[in-house]
Amino acid sequence: MNQLRRDPITGIWTIMLQNGKEMVTFKPDGHRRLRRARPGETCEFCAGHEGETAPEVFAVRPNHSPRNEPGWNVRVVPERVPVLQIHGETNNRGLGIYDMLDGIGAHELVIETAAHGKILAELAENEIADVLTAYRERVLDLKRDARFRYILVYKNVGEGRRGPSLRHSLSHVIATPITPLRVREELTNAQQYFLLKERCIFCDMIRQELEATQRLVAENENFIALCPFASRAPFEIWLLPKRHETFYEWNNELPSLAKLLKLVLLKVRQALGDPNHLMIIHSGPNLLAGRQRGYWKTVERDFHWHLEITPRLRGMADFDIVAGFQVNWIPPERAAEILRQCTI
Ligand SMILES: [Zn+2]
Ligand SMILES: [Zn+2]
Ligand SMILES: [Zn+2]
Repeated sequence: MNQLRRDPITGIWTIMLQNGKEMVTFKPDGHRRLRRARPGETCEFCAGHEGETAPEVFAVRPNHSPRNEPGWNVRVVPERVPVLQIHGETNNRGLGIYDMLDGIGAHELVIETAAHGKILAELAENEIADVLTAYRERVLDLKRDARFRYILVYKNVGEGRRGPSLRHSLSHVIATPITPLRVREELTNAQQYFLLKERCIFCDMIRQELEATQRLVAENENFIALCPFASRAPFEIWLLPKRHETFYEWNNELPSLAKLLKLVLLKVRQALGDPNHLMIIHSGPNLLAGRQRGYWKTVERDFHWHLEITPRLRGMADFDIVAGFQVNWIPPERAAEILRQCTI
């Protein structure tokens, strides 16, 4: 019989098909396989094209080359067509029963490598660590601004852009004047759990999954990778620090995270081909903004940052769209088993 499983952290219910025709539906459909760059292709994010982007706000330059010149490993620039603007005030107001804010925020692009067409999994571990460091530095900087309640770091691999720049490996850093709904649900559920049990729900989950082992994908000294119990999509993977930690940007073991992330991404590649996928970091909220309003009083004890990877293997079914349930046709126990068996 199929199961309905509830994720205790997100509160999301997923229908878990137990006898999905996995061998047929396992690999991404045609649109969801990563498109590789053509030889000689370039774009505005390539080395030597620095003048085509907005001036950089951060870069990793091992040989101290001048700003907005070649010689960088990672470069962060404001998005030319941002979804939210940096200048101004949020101007919170009501229109009868409706609430409205001005679109204040920040939208930055992390150019993960100077090499066009190279994907994150193909970078060396120290280069991936540079990317993770760029995330950390940008989050720390943007959190100094009390207008921003949340800083979201994500990458939407294979989707979201058009033309050659689709094939240049990028991440987004978005600062928002409200907490994104999905994150707020996690924060609220973690807080509720803490109020009841005085423990972090993520720490409890990690302990249970390390004992049960059937949903474990990989681990190292500092981090664990697992397929969550109520995975919303096949091969959903979460990476978490083993030690309790609320804020991604406070982590000082990023080389160790880079190592596990590379391993996991290579396993996904081996098991599934190169599927488009989403990678999101869920860190604690901006305390500077939250404390002013009396929010998140126990967050440092109840919330535990993590990185979520969701491969996109096919479009949503009608039922997902209409009912808001997720339907997953490969149980996480099976997905984790397949990923464990991939030897890199
Ligand atoms: Zn490029
Ligand atoms: Zn914890
Ligand atoms: Zn999360």
